[in-house]
Amino acid sequence: MLNRNIVNFIGCESEYEEAKIVLYGVPFDSTTSYRPGTRFASQVIRNESYGLETYSPYQDKDLIDFAIFDSGDLELPIGNTEGVLKKIENRCEEILQDGKLPFMIGGEHLVTLGAVRAAAKRYPELYMLHFDAHADLRKDYLGVTLSHACVMRRCYELLGEKKIYQFGIRSGDRDEFCFAKEGHVMMQPFCLDGLEDVLVQLKEKPVYVTVDLDVLDPGIFPGTGTPEAGGVSFMELLDALRKVGSGCQVVACDINELSPIYDQSGASTAVACKVVREFLLALC
Ligand code: MN
Ligand code: MN
Repeated sequence: MLNRNIVNFIGCESEYEEAKIVLYGVPFDSTTSYRPGTRFASQVIRNESYGLETYSPYQDKDLIDFAIFDSGDLELPIGNTEGVLKKIENRCEEILQDGKLPFMIGGEHLVTLGAVRAAAKRYPELYMLHFDAHADLRKDYLGVTLSHACVMRRCYELLGEKKIYQFGIRSGDRDEFCFAKEGHVMMQPFCLDGLEDVLVQLKEKPVYVTVDLDVLDPGIFPGTGTPEAGGVSFMELLDALRKVGSGCQVVACDINELSPIYDQSGASTAVACKVVREFLLALC
């Protein structure tokens, strides 16, 4: 008998009922401020994941030993940003209600807001860990409040004071850096230092983790809409995600901002796939 052609992320072949983690892709890039293309990331990541092994020698863990379900991409009302966010919120909410961990693959960074709305409804005391080159704290971007340049400001408005911890930030306007200095959010600029202390504080708290892949240096990750020199290495990000996986209660997460059309060599996509694999395994 022949099988249906189904492309999951490699090694994520569990049935939904038994899965502990559920992947979902969000092909959305409508508010991207500079170079678009992230809407193609989730499908490309699934396809190119077959260039990886399911086994991670870093963690001595194998994806096939864990129950992970890939629910595919959402069908989105492109052009209707609130409608898109609602679809994301509904998907994330459904997975949370079933007692599983929603793991989103973006898409541009605004997609995080939809998932955080669902997570905050279920966990009113929600905290966030945010890895990014950009602060994403603008009140608006050229008058638009639902933009990837504002996503963390919208999350702040939802969660309240001192709930967001940002790492690797090296770009933003003066107001965004002032906003962090005033203590509304905790920002570690340029690097990932201080994560261990934060994890001690957050140990028993529900945490949403969002990884904007442009936190990585464009030398290893040029395939993104707004590359920003001076980023962290793959090993630094891997180390951080392993600590996050074992050091706090991650209730939902996402990885976003790969733009495959700016990835001539395919190397950025390979990096993104590996970050997805390692973060999945860190959460298992
Ligand atoms: Mn971002
Ligand atoms: Mn960014």
